[in-house]
Amino acid sequence: MSMNLRKQEKRPVKSIAILGSTGSIGRQSLEVIKSFPNLLKATVLTAHSNDELLIQQAKEFLPNAVVIGESEKWQRVKEELAEYPIEVLSGQQGLLEVVRREDVDCVLVALVGAAGLLPTYAAIEARKQIALANKETLVIAGALIMNKAKEKAVSILPVDSEHSAIFQCLVGEARASVQKIYLTASGGPFRGFTIQQLEDVSPSQALKHPNWQMGRKISIDSATLVNKGLEIIEARWLFDTEAIDVVIHPQSVIHSLVCFVDGSLKAQLGTPDMRIPIQYALTYPNRCSNSLKPFSFQDFPSFTFEAVNHDVFKGVVYARHALERGGNVPCILNAANEIAVELFLQMKIKFLEIYHVIEKALVKIPFIANPSLAELLETDIFTREFLLQHYQKI
Ligand code: NDP
Ligand code: MG
Repeated sequence: MSMNLRKQEKRPVKSIAILGSTGSIGRQSLEVIKSFPNLLKATVLTAHSNDELLIQQAKEFLPNAVVIGESEKWQRVKEELAEYPIEVLSGQQGLLEVVRREDVDCVLVALVGAAGLLPTYAAIEARKQIALANKETLVIAGALIMNKAKEKAVSILPVDSEHSAIFQCLVGEARASVQKIYLTASGGPFRGFTIQQLEDVSPSQALKHPNWQMGRKISIDSATLVNKGLEIIEARWLFDTEAIDVVIHPQSVIHSLVCFVDGSLKAQLGTPDMRIPIQYALTYPNRCSNSLKPFSFQDFPSFTFEAVNHDVFKGVVYARHALERGGNVPCILNAANEIAVELFLQMKIKFLEIYHVIEKALVKIPFIANPSLAELLETDIFTREFLLQHYQKI
């Protein structure tokens, strides 16, 4: 007993590799790590293009290694960090190497898009705990990732606020007691808009999310509700159920709910602040007090709920289709959406054309029933090439 107590008191510092430390989730993760110096340490940081911020973060957090995605920036990062005992790697190879390092206990995957897939897979193979923000990984290869995690006895802790909420609601509950999961959605900046009103909306309007400050890609996904579609697929794999519904809750205070077989509902609530679910994933199974602003009922005097208008915002419809067909269809959906978002942000297509791009890919790209990892990577590349050729605008 006394041995156990001593063990708990002397909990070792958890070493974390943050993939995508320069992004919205990555930066907030560093804030969380900074506030728990006796519990958490960032031993690896990675960026794709933002060498400036990576260098700054490296000097402040003193990780053992950093990765800069764009190889041509390696020299500069190396020179800037020459006086520090920090290994500097580059490219995708660098990412695949750092997730296997001995000085890494947990890999926080905060990359955006399909780039998260292979590093996550490699981290699971190396038996690292995964804190997963990158939902695209589970959308593309949910079955393979979850099977590999089971085989290697690796836990995948959700960072996405809805999935963190469900994860928290399920603590102490038997799987058989769950009737249904409800994912909440804010509805995004265009909630209530008609098709006509969406006709000419601009990227800057679409990027203005009412409740969350996020990266560009997920902000557009929230405006189309494709984000909620991707989250249905993410939840299907994390919680092994297809009984998943979506409800619009514009205040984003109820982060999601679980309905149990006895008709009881459990919800997880809090201020919309990603540092809360990030902290839960990094300190799980413990809860640690922090200095975030306490929840104020005065700030949120009412909670409201609406149904999704699936005729206008089709993200959820695509996700249901992709789950029903299975195979490489969720991968096609993800790749098409990434291309469509990029084309929209570059003002090469209009907002509503995002849906056309996705539909074109879902119809045209060949179906594979039980794809291997290699076939999923091929599907991802093929879908992108097909769409870029077709739209010939990028
Ligand atoms: P950001 O765009 O803010 O950050 C993305 C990060 O990934 C950056 O560090 C970026 O590097 C890096 N990156 C971009 N492309 C590549 C690539 N090809 N290879 C390697 N690294 C790359 O995204 P967010 O932080 O908003 O989102 C990250 C993930 O978390 C997404 O999957 C998103 O869906 C999910 N998520 C985000 C939430 C949020 O509040 N932001 C909430 C819930 C989930 P650099 O900047 O140096 O180019
Ligand atoms: Mg979310």
